[in-house]
Amino acid sequence: SYSALLEQALTFMHEGDDFLVVSHVQPDGDAISSTVVVGWLLHKLGKRFTLINEGEVPSRLHFLTLSDTIINYSKSQPNRTFNRVIAVDCADFRRIGEVASCFSEDHQLLNIDHHPTNDAFGVHNVIHPEAAATVEILFDLLRHAGITPDESAATAIYTGLLTDTGGFRYSNTTPHVMEMASQLLQLGVNGHWIADYLLERMTMPQLKLLQLGLSRLVFSEDNRIGWLYIEANDLANTGAAPEDLEGLVNYARNVDGVEVGILFKELKDGQVKVSMRSAGVVDVAAVAQSFSGGGHVRAAGCKHEGPLEQTMLQVVEAARKALNN
Ligand code: 5GP
Ligand code: MN
Ligand code: MN
Repeated sequence: SYSALLEQALTFMHEGDDFLVVSHVQPDGDAISSTVVVGWLLHKLGKRFTLINEGEVPSRLHFLTLSDTIINYSKSQPNRTFNRVIAVDCADFRRIGEVASCFSEDHQLLNIDHHPTNDAFGVHNVIHPEAAATVEILFDLLRHAGITPDESAATAIYTGLLTDTGGFRYSNTTPHVMEMASQLLQLGVNGHWIADYLLERMTMPQLKLLQLGLSRLVFSEDNRIGWLYIEANDLANTGAAPEDLEGLVNYARNVDGVEVGILFKELKDGQVKVSMRSAGVVDVAAVAQSFSGGGHVRAAGCKHEGPLEQTMLQVVEAARKALNN
């Protein structure tokens, strides 16, 4: 049962002394929030811990307490290995990225995640697809342990909930999510500020990137699939950061009548990161899985070898097939 899994996770934390906490490559709000919440809990339990990610913490998430202690693996690799690893918000082992190189050979991994496509790659696996975000599972874990988050931990939990539910709007916004949000607000979280800072505010480079993306938005003949692309040098040309791509795919999906929205991001090495969003009819996780990716029914992604033109042809065709089935 779920509470037995939470108990296992707590035991894993109690039994160890020194932990490595990691989330997925190109971390989003839930990934960074989950990382710092686990860090906060381990600190509370009197444990030693190291927080790490393959890349940089998006600058807009720097307001989260402990986010400045997350090691950027691409810039500085720890000169030691770790035996007890906690992976959060990672659907499969590959999502951990290069950080996996600093796991000891006999490492034990606790896998805490909410993706239905999670393949249970840990020794212990707390996989709860009913959760809207990994932070939801972590809040359940704190409650299970009888620990009340302080304002900083509550802020991180709220941030993960807010971002993974698209501002409490997606279909994963359950009564349980709202009940948690209510409790977090009571603990002092400034919900209005976080929503304004993360969801409303736009930087000028972000707006320029949006203008460029919208100028390339096209649709299938029946207008049920919409897609757009961003080329590798567009970020440099607009001054935008990779995180500024978040939300762009929704402009394709949000058009009336569109069932599948797709964003193609060309990477520097020529590979293409694909983001898919479904209005409900198509299971985009299944489409993503056919390209070795994964995710949720309404939000999924994969990485394709490219080149961009080829990726667009193949993925749009797969979406078309899924739609007509
Ligand atoms: P996004 O399009 O925002 O990058 O990702 C949407 C959802 O799909 C997220 O839940 C994310 O975890 C999942 N996802 C995105 N890219 C990949 C991928 O390459 N592999 C897997 N397994 N899941 C992905
Ligand atoms: Mn995530
Ligand atoms: Mn998540």
